[in-house]
Amino acid sequence: MVALGMQRHCDATLRAEKSMNEHALREQICELGRSMFERGLTHGSTGNISARCDDGWLLTPTGSSLGRLDPARLSKLDWQGKLISGDPPSKENFLHLAMYQERSRNQAVVHLHATHSVAVSVLEEIDPADVLPPLTAYYVMRIGSLPLVPYYAPGDMELAQAVRALAGKHHALLLANHGPVVAGSSLAAAADAVEELEATARIYLLLQGRRARMLTPEQVAAIRRRYPAG
Ligand code: ZN
Repeated sequence: MVALGMQRHCDATLRAEKSMNEHALREQICELGRSMFERGLTHGSTGNISARCDDGWLLTPTGSSLGRLDPARLSKLDWQGKLISGDPPSKENFLHLAMYQERSRNQAVVHLHATHSVAVSVLEEIDPADVLPPLTAYYVMRIGSLPLVPYYAPGDMELAQAVRALAGKHHALLLANHGPVVAGSSLAAAADAVEELEATARIYLLLQGRRARMLTPEQVAAIRRRYPAG
C-alpha cells in the first residue's frame, strides 16, 4: 500500500512538473513573439513560433499577431498535425511539422517574414545551394549554410515536401520570396539563429555594389570545427 501510495504521489508530481514545463514554454513563446514583433522582425499577423512539449507541440494560432499572443490560446498539436487544444493553428503548421519530423533533436522552430531575409530571397544572383556568404563568424556558427527553397504559392503542400527534402541536412532554410524557417535545440537557440540570419541578410544588402572581404574557406572550416551548427 505504501508503495502504491508513493507511486501515485510520483505520478502526480510528474504530471505537475509536465504541466509546469508546458506552462513555462507557453509563456516563453509569447514573450519571444512580443520581443520579435516590437523589434520589427515580423509584422501584421505574419510569422509563427513553435516548440515541442511533452505530449505534442505548441504553435502560434492562425491570424494572430506575434506581438499579442495569449499563452492559454496557443495551438497544441499532435505529431500528425491534428489540433489537440487551443485556437486553430497557423496555416503554415506543415512547415514546422516537416522540420520536427526530419530533425528529431530540435526542440523549436521559428518562421518569419523578416524584411531583409525576404529581400535577399528575392535577389536573382543568389546561389540557391547556399544563399549568404560567410560574412561573420557568428553567421557561420549559428546558420552555417542556407539553401533556398523554391517558391510555392501559400497553402501549396509541395512546399512541405520541398522543406522536408532539405530539413534533414539543414536547420535553417530560406523560402524564396517568403522568408526563413529555422529550427534549434531550444526556443532561445532557434530565435538566436533566425535573428543572426536576419542581421546577416541586412549586412549583405548594405554591402551590395561594394567590394567586401568574406571569411576565407580556412577561417570557415576552423569555426565549423569548433562550433558545429544546428
Ligand atoms: Zn510564411
